[in-house]
Amino acid sequence: MSNIQVNLANRSYQVLIGSGKINYLPEFLSNKNYSKIIILTDENVAKLYLNSLISIVKSTKIAFHSIISKAGEGAKSFANLEEISEKILQYEIDRHSLIIAFGGGVIGDLSGFLASILLRGIDFIQVPTTLLAAVDSSVGGKTAINSKFGKNLIGSFYQPKLVICDLDFLSTLPKRELKAGYAEVVKSALIKDKNFFEFLEANAEKKFYSQTSNANSTQIDIEFLTTIISKSCQIKADIVSLDETEQGQRALLNFGHSFAHIFETETNYSNEMLHGEAVSIGIMMALEMSKNFGFITKDEIERISNHFKKIALPILPKEIRFNWNIKNLSVHLYKDKKNENKNLTFILLKKIGEAIIQKSVSYDDFLLAINKYL
Ligand code: ADP
Ligand code: ZN
Repeated sequence: MSNIQVNLANRSYQVLIGSGKINYLPEFLSNKNYSKIIILTDENVAKLYLNSLISIVKSTKIAFHSIISKAGEGAKSFANLEEISEKILQYEIDRHSLIIAFGGGVIGDLSGFLASILLRGIDFIQVPTTLLAAVDSSVGGKTAINSKFGKNLIGSFYQPKLVICDLDFLSTLPKRELKAGYAEVVKSALIKDKNFFEFLEANAEKKFYSQTSNANSTQIDIEFLTTIISKSCQIKADIVSLDETEQGQRALLNFGHSFAHIFETETNYSNEMLHGEAVSIGIMMALEMSKNFGFITKDEIERISNHFKKIALPILPKEIRFNWNIKNLSVHLYKDKKNENKNLTFILLKKIGEAIIQKSVSYDDFLLAINKYL
C-alpha cells in the first residue's frame, strides 16, 4: 500500500511513503548516473533536517551542493528564481545533474520549475516535508512561481523522477500546517472515495487531532498517516495518469479551490489564511453550490462540516477574519477564472465520493453559495 506508481509511460515514477523511506535514496541513485546533486531547501527545513539528508547523499559519493532559500510563498518569485538559478549554474551542473526538492509545497513548486528550465530540463526528486506537499503538490508535476498577476501563473508540467515521503520529517510540522494539509486529504476522499471518507470519519479525531495537543510538534499515528497519504496519492496518481495536463478530469482535484483562491487572494496568500484552511472553507461553499444544483443533500453537507469541525479546520471565513468585502471577492473570482464572460465552471459534488465538472454556473449561483457562509 505504501508505494504508489504514477503511470505516465516513460515518465512514470514511484511515490514512496512511510517512516525512514529517505534511506532508499542511495539505492535509487546507484542505478542512475547523476553527475552532481543540488539539494534545494528552505531555512526552516535546513535547520531541522539538512544535515541528515546530506549524510545520506554523501554516502553515495556523488558530488553535491545545497542551497537554502528563504521560506514562505515569497520564495516563489522571479527574483528568487533568478538568484537560485545563477547559484545552481555557478556549481557547473550539466544535463545529468539532479535537483532534490527538500521542503514543503513552496520548495517543491520552485525546484520543479527550476528543474524544468535549467539546461532545458534536468531531473528532479521531490522529498516533501509538509503534509500538504506529501498528499498534493509533490505528486503530479505541476510546477510554478507566482506573478504579480496571480499565483502559479508562470510554470510548467514537469514530473519528478521519484517522490520520497518520509513521515519522520513531518514530526516537527506545526499543528496548524498539519491540519491545513489534512483539508486536501478530505478533498481527495470527497471527490473519489466514499469508503475513504468513512475511514477518516471513524479514525481522524482519535489518531490525528487528539494527539496533536502541542502546537509546535506533532505526535501522530504513523500507520494512520501512511494510510491517508497513500490513499490521497493514489487518488491523485490515478487522475494524473489519465489527464496529466488538466484537459478534463484532473480539474476534479480543484474541488473547493475556486472559492479557496478568492479568499487567499484577498488575504494576499499570507499566514492569515493557509491554503488548506482556505480549502476547507472553499469546500463548504462548493458543497452549498452542489446542493443548490440539486446534487448533494443537506445531511451529507452536515456530515462533512462536522468532520472539519472535529479536526478544528475552519468552515466559515469569519473564523479567519470578521468582515469580508464581497465586491473584492467577486473581482478575485473573475480573475481566477481567467475569463470575463459570466459563464463559470465549478467542481461540484454529486454525492460523497463523486465529483463532477459543472459548466454554466452563473454569478448569482456563486453569490448564493458564498453568501450562505459569509
Ligand atoms: P506548503 O507545503 O503548505 O505548501 P510551505 O512549503 O510554505 O507550504 O511550508 C509551510 C511552512 O512549514 C514553511 O515555513 C516551511 O519552512 C515549514 N516547514 C516545512 N516542512 C517542515 C517540517 N517538516 N517541520 C517544520 N516546519 C516545516
Ligand atoms: Zn490545494
